[in-house]
Amino acid sequence: AKPRLLDDEEGGVLFYTAPSSSSSSFGYASLESQRQRLPVFKYRTSILYLVETHSTTIIVGETGSGKTTQIPQYLKEAGWADGGRIIACTQPRRLAVQSVAARLAEEMGVKLGEEVGYTIRFEDVTNSELTRIKFLTDGVLLREMMDDPLLSKYSVIMVDEAHERSLSTDILLGLLKKIQRRRPELRLIIASATIEAKSMAEFFHNRKRRPQLEGEDNRLQTEPAILSVEGRGYNVQIFYIEEPVSDYLQATVSTVMSIHDKEPMGDILVFLTGQDDIDTAVQMITEQAQNSGSKSSFGMIVLPLYSGLTRSDQDLVFSPSPRGKRKVVISTNIAETSLTLEGIVYVVDSGFSKQRFYNPITDIENLVVAPISKASARQRAGRAGRVRPGKCYRLYMEDYFVNEMSSHGIPEMQRSNLVSTVIQLKALGIDNILGFDWPASPSAEAMVRSLEVLYSLGVLDDDAKLTSPVGFQVAELPLDPMVSKMIIASDKLECSEEIITIAAILSVQSIWISVKGQRELDEAKLRFAASEGDHVTFLNVYRGFLQSNKSSKWCHKNFINYHAMKKVMEVREQLRRVAQRLGLALKSCQNDMQVLRKAVTAGFFANACRLEAYSHNGTYKTLRGSQEVYIHPSSVLFRVNPKWVIYHSLVSTDRQYMRNVISIDPSWLREAAPHFYNKQPLNPPTHH
Ligand code: ADP
Ligand code: MG
Repeated sequence: AKPRLLDDEEGGVLFYTAPSSSSSSFGYASLESQRQRLPVFKYRTSILYLVETHSTTIIVGETGSGKTTQIPQYLKEAGWADGGRIIACTQPRRLAVQSVAARLAEEMGVKLGEEVGYTIRFEDVTNSELTRIKFLTDGVLLREMMDDPLLSKYSVIMVDEAHERSLSTDILLGLLKKIQRRRPELRLIIASATIEAKSMAEFFHNRKRRPQLEGEDNRLQTEPAILSVEGRGYNVQIFYIEEPVSDYLQATVSTVMSIHDKEPMGDILVFLTGQDDIDTAVQMITEQAQNSGSKSSFGMIVLPLYSGLTRSDQDLVFSPSPRGKRKVVISTNIAETSLTLEGIVYVVDSGFSKQRFYNPITDIENLVVAPISKASARQRAGRAGRVRPGKCYRLYMEDYFVNEMSSHGIPEMQRSNLVSTVIQLKALGIDNILGFDWPASPSAEAMVRSLEVLYSLGVLDDDAKLTSPVGFQVAELPLDPMVSKMIIASDKLECSEEIITIAAILSVQSIWISVKGQRELDEAKLRFAASEGDHVTFLNVYRGFLQSNKSSKWCHKNFINYHAMKKVMEVREQLRRVAQRLGLALKSCQNDMQVLRKAVTAGFFANACRLEAYSHNGTYKTLRGSQEVYIHPSSVLFRVNPKWVIYHSLVSTDRQYMRNVISIDPSWLREAAPHFYNKQPLNPPTHH
């Protein structure tokens, strides 16, 4: 059936006939009128008209204007989900997927996981028969292409948050452009909070005229339409610091306290960089408010916001502040454009975010706390003007903003390791990767480096084609290729049960509870510490957890995050199922930790490091690029400093720190990757 353009009233009635038991009809009406007050509502008819008549529609609108929550509903109301078809909406972030799906289910009065569902890696909350609107990460949609290359079950795919230019978003855009040539009836919506619409439109403009297919709708325009939704943000007054701050956590805390003391009611949103910073700031502010006795006559609720929060913690952030209380939300840049918080009047912007950086010369990728762009700074400030005129406090100087901050960020594609990207494209049958039509071309060096690593992993053959079976198996596992290779290697080494457990633990943020006193946590870790390193330590924790009958009390006593362990169990089960499907045997090595370390080496040989001869402060050098690195203080091998180690990831603060480290025997490296290490001497040069 052809989608029908419904008028607004009809669309409204369609969904509000069966209230869920939890909402009163009063709450219902108010949700409905809230929907109609959103800026996109005025454009409902235009949006539906453009989507019907154009292959690609680009929609630009201020954060909070209703793009994510309303457009999928309009599409459904207009019939785009009829006949078993599905409307997809992608997000770069997992937490955003979960949160907007929950919001939409609430607005539509349906149970999450039925008509409205979501899928993120390791978590599928959809129903194959009932789900009509599906939120998913762009990464998950890429994976779906492996089974269904034309994404045939979707009628409309809305690629949301396109301005973020995440790695997966860019690959997805490149592939969707190809799919559209084969499936002209597929509609794309590209939604963005900032105007980079022109370059997007150019990217999707099909210059090569394709001969008309028989029966094809010739009114469908291939040139993208651009629609700009007028926002209604209020004025935001900007404040800068006058002197640079040395400790921006401390500066954040005092800024929040002074807003709380001096400014009228209204919630505060603070942008910091990561979980560690955020947890510390939450504690510091909560304590200051209690101890020093704030001058303010009303109280404060301080809440963190980052991915990996439990459901109930997320709900707290989104629920309205109780009467007489000021809510302070301390967030990563997820609140910059992906999520809308109501009631924010004050924004504190640290000027930093965690960003991925990759150096193809050293082949090192890590998360770095780096300055944000002007575009981000403006977005952050904009969050203060949603409900009434607001104020934004920037923890940097005006001169810095004007003269030094870059105007836009660099697309993630150009600052990432491309190993996963290459393997995904290969798995989709795209052989000429250098000639792929990218929205932003990656660097040739990065491409060559990734081909080299994939060749050494045994994933690509001499002709740069996926090997069989290893290459296909690695592509099939929903994990980083190095982790996938570790699992595949564990088959022959007969330790797949343990390696899968380790892979599951490495896939969750952290299994330890974050506490302020590092000492207790360190003592708790000692109970499980293994001399081989963190991977084996994780295995000990897992075994202890099983022995305790998966008890939450046991977790609490040992400073272990019970929710994380439950997640580990789930992920582990899913990985076991995929492994079995790939024909890997599930075997336990019991207590042979050597084979286990060999399996880790088989995947992560490229991350091998050697302790510097005569190093007294634990300096290591990477074998590949001779970069100086150190064992992270959170590792059980911190201060132990074995001669040869392999790390799982790097974090950089004042130095490059290796996180999750295991000791190895250097002879395993050549065994695991002869091509990779044949040119380098593995023994330290002798000093005279
Ligand atoms: P956009 O995608 O354009 O940034 P959204 O569709 O996410 O906008 O949000 C539209 C409006 O819906 C917001 O302004 C807010 O009023 C409301 N909203 C969205 N998510 C939530 C939520 N989790 N809780 C309460 N209100 C929400
Ligand atoms: Mg949105």
